[in-house]
Amino acid sequence: MGMFIEISVRDKEFLRTAAARALVDACPVEIFEPVDRRVRVNKDQEDECTLCGRCLEIAGDRIEIIKHYD
Ligand code: SF4
Repeated sequence: MGMFIEISVRDKEFLRTAAARALVDACPVEIFEPVDRRVRVNKDQEDECTLCGRCLEIAGDRIEIIKHYD
């Protein structure tokens, strides 16, 4: 898990959809990775998040980016 940033997926079923697979290409720092027929968040990569918002454009409120800093 990231020390500074956490990518929280509110709707786990979403990770099995084609839209979720679009996250793999959309994220510039490879936080989303395909595993079998779903997508998972690479927890080792969370702190690399640039807060670009591309994943939120795809997933809307099904994903939340939580900052553990002020
Ligand atoms: S905000 Fe950008 S860098 Fe962060 S997880 Fe989403 S797509 Fe990746």
